[in-house]
Amino acid sequence: MKIAILGGGVAGVSSAILLKQMGFDVSIYERHAASSNIGAGIVAWPNACFVLEQLGVLDAVKSVAGSPASMRRLSRSGEFLGSIDIELINKQMGYPSLSILRSDFQGILESKLASLGGFVEFGKTVISIRPRSAGQAEVQFQNGQAITADVIIGADGRMASPARRYVHGNNTPVYQGFINWVGVCELEGDYFDRIEVSDYWGVGERFGIVAVAGNKAYWAGGVACTEISPKVPAHYKDELASAFAGWPAPIQAMIEHTPLERMNKIYVHDHDPIGTWHRDNVIAIGDAAHASLPTSGQGACQALEDAWHLAACLKESSQDLPQAFAKFTEIRLDKTTGITVAGRRLAASLFNRDQEFCRVRNDISKNTDFQALAEAMATGWSHHLPLMPRQAREL
Ligand SMILES: Cc1cc2nc3c(=O)[nH]c(=O)nc-3n(C[C@H](O)[C@H](O)[C@H](O)COP(=O)(O)OP(=O)(O)OC[C@H]3O[C@@H](n4cnc5c(N)ncnc54)[C@H](O)[C@@H]3O)c2cc1C
Repeated sequence: MKIAILGGGVAGVSSAILLKQMGFDVSIYERHAASSNIGAGIVAWPNACFVLEQLGVLDAVKSVAGSPASMRRLSRSGEFLGSIDIELINKQMGYPSLSILRSDFQGILESKLASLGGFVEFGKTVISIRPRSAGQAEVQFQNGQAITADVIIGADGRMASPARRYVHGNNTPVYQGFINWVGVCELEGDYFDRIEVSDYWGVGERFGIVAVAGNKAYWAGGVACTEISPKVPAHYKDELASAFAGWPAPIQAMIEHTPLERMNKIYVHDHDPIGTWHRDNVIAIGDAAHASLPTSGQGACQALEDAWHLAACLKESSQDLPQAFAKFTEIRLDKTTGITVAGRRLAASLFNRDQEFCRVRNDISKNTDFQALAEAMATGWSHHLPLMPRQAREL
């Protein structure tokens, strides 16, 4: 079976690895001229680490990642609002949680693909997908090339996915009313005593720091903003310094010590959930199918889960594509919809600009049963995966 994958991000490259491991003939096309990474880093939660083990890259990821022990919530003045015990989530799900820079992560996936004799064809921008014959679509590239395949996997992201347009008719993402400045900060000596996630909540503002090592972290500073304006990279540091003036010292350190070339500014979009991800021999996966907000913390993890489930469905029903696609959708739809909705709910709370709302929200956080919360997260993220509790020493 010949499989064409559109998009060389997390969903595309991980699908290519799994499908090549199963013996399929796989080609993968990416619009960028070389590897590039939206965002600065990710936490691969235990559900993602399960897939990373299937891909054969879990040890490589562990070797450059941090293992955050907890996710602390603090107010913008540094008041403690409670903490999620990540080690409890890990034990319950039987895999670690790993914080890793996007560049390292993408590099590991691409090296694994190369070890299987695969490679990403860079500089191939898909401009459209159109019907070619009964049940078969054709992909058109900007350079005039056109291809077809037995299966076309649209892993072409959230912003203008040709695959989403083909399967759903509309691929316009929804702006969710906030900006994220993101960055990677590497310091001279150790700065972080503990590898953990620190999440600072303000009024219509939020700053998250994820330690990857004692001297290295990625971060995201979010601010509610109704209008989308032109981006001026030279201004990013000043914009951050002004938005987060007076916030606790670690935030000032991140802004001060991150070079401009390692910062980015993103007007954050997601997609409304839809019930159909396939048409003819085309299926959308990852952000193209179900982009969730960064507040879900699960976008890349769900892209990995898609890759694993889709490969399994194609293997099981390779002679019956409609069945393979229907089974994939049945497994994935509810979980990804729940994650999109949860991401929106948290964003609506974090980027609320009402002082009183935020005061009450912070009080609720202080009174949260964090053990129950960690257990609920583990249960939700384990859904449809063969995960079992394990002792910490085994992870
Ligand atoms: C600010 C921000 C922070 C985030 N932080 C986290 C986090 O901490 N943890 C987490 O799990 N997730 C996070 N995410 C979400 C995560 O980045 C995505 O969910 C994940 O990358 C989805 O993988 P994907 O392969 O579907 O899409 P992508 O990784 O976006 O890959 C899509 C690929 O398709 C290519 N492409 C697009 N259009 C075309 C075309 N026309 N032709 C050819 N190629 C094309 C793109 O260039 C890209 O390489 C964050 C997202 C944002 C916006």
